[in-house]
Amino acid sequence: MTSEQFRRYGRQVVDWVADYHDRVESLPVAAQVEPGQVGAALPEHPPERGEPFEAVLADLDRILLPGITHWQHPSFFGFFPANASGPAILADLLCSGLGVQGMLWATSPACTELETQVMDWLAELLGLPDRFRSAGRGGGVIQDTASTAMLVALLAALHRASAGEAGRTGVGCGRYAVYASVEAHSAVLKAVRMAGLGDGALRSVEADPATLAMRPDRLEAAVAADRAAGTTPAMVVATVGTTSTTAIDPVPRIGAVCREHGAWLHVDAAYAGAAAVCPELRWTHAGVGEHADSYSMNPHKWLLTNFDCDGFWVADRSALLGALSVLPEFLRNAASESGAVIDYRDWQIQLGRRFRALKLWAVLRWYGADGLREHIRGHLALAQELARWVADDPRFEVVAPHPLSLVCLRLRGTPGGSGEAADALNAELLRRVNASGGAYLTHTRVRGRHTLRFAIGGTHTERRHVAAAWQLIRATADELLPGRPAVGPRVG
Ligand code: PLP
Repeated sequence: MTSEQFRRYGRQVVDWVADYHDRVESLPVAAQVEPGQVGAALPEHPPERGEPFEAVLADLDRILLPGITHWQHPSFFGFFPANASGPAILADLLCSGLGVQGMLWATSPACTELETQVMDWLAELLGLPDRFRSAGRGGGVIQDTASTAMLVALLAALHRASAGEAGRTGVGCGRYAVYASVEAHSAVLKAVRMAGLGDGALRSVEADPATLAMRPDRLEAAVAADRAAGTTPAMVVATVGTTSTTAIDPVPRIGAVCREHGAWLHVDAAYAGAAAVCPELRWTHAGVGEHADSYSMNPHKWLLTNFDCDGFWVADRSALLGALSVLPEFLRNAASESGAVIDYRDWQIQLGRRFRALKLWAVLRWYGADGLREHIRGHLALAQELARWVADDPRFEVVAPHPLSLVCLRLRGTPGGSGEAADALNAELLRRVNASGGAYLTHTRVRGRHTLRFAIGGTHTERRHVAAAWQLIRATADELLPGRPAVGPRVG
């Protein structure tokens, strides 16, 4: 592709993306295809001769778009949001254009130094203490996802717990244990498996039935039992904002247990971490600054930075570097050996790395702290308003605390009906809402019962989208419960 062709098609692509964002609201939120439909529309064999780029764009519209679930649709309320934004998209293009590999400082110094600065900035914006900043013994690095951050934290924890032996001699079955709430993300179990500890090393700690947050007394008991049996408590994961309900584990008390027993504390704030840009929401992070050995949050969820971008910080980088530094001859260079530079390959699993700091830099500069706070506060207010609407309709219940922008709700079911029947009713409600194309929600189980998750946080989501989705849910409930029409006020 010549630079002239690149310019021509580049303009078309930028226009395509801008038009897409303008019109995404008019498309059904969820993909409207059957399994195999997209694959069947694609040619069986790769093209023998090159094709014009117009053909790629035409097939994007014709074949792929119907198979896309529109995460940037303002009525996408499933999972947690995956914010895309103009500055992040443009910076991603610059990243691709530069095409650098930032594995070592020497392979592109600006790539490393911008990342260090941007991670220090973000630590400041989130109110993280100085010990997580690069000037001291700690520091931040961009990982691809919170799941990778979890594994990296565990490898550092095992390194520390084994006085540096785990990497060389292996972890052995039953020697180390990892603790997390039953409500913690499945990424904990995955990390335990990937680290070679085996599923049996994970202790799922009971959660408080009201708050759905980890019970520190149960954690303490599990850790003490392990120590008495000769098993080393390697890492405790505290979640700030669980995936099912955004429950907030009591980090100060969990941290005290970790300190007493020498366990590494990793705080997973994948979604809720973004809230800490607002000083009035920092209570969600109580104890993190004092107790966490590592902390991660995803700007790619709720902080306007396109996937993938996870911020991961450690209070003391020595265990991380000890666990992950392996130095082959072909990577040796004078700058690394001088000790004056950071080589982020030693802070992550992969060797190669993209220039992800560019998009975070662009986002922080474009929106500024004020813009980011406005983004979070707007969604928070919408969620609190939605929770009031739900509470006003006696057919529904809000099933968990909603400190941030996720509201968990369900239909109460019919009087005298079984829990299973109510679950089936809620599953059907969700199916119909999503099939309508007007909104998209996902589900979880709260205290064993099927629950709808209404996660507000899209880049373009406004009050009217939340109100319309709530009306859609109520109208669908009218269909499912013909004898029990809505009684709460209409909204929107
Ligand atoms: N931890 C929590 C609390 C999450 O909610 C999620 C995803 O929703 C993850 C971890 C995994 O995130 P990622 O996709 O970045 O690995």
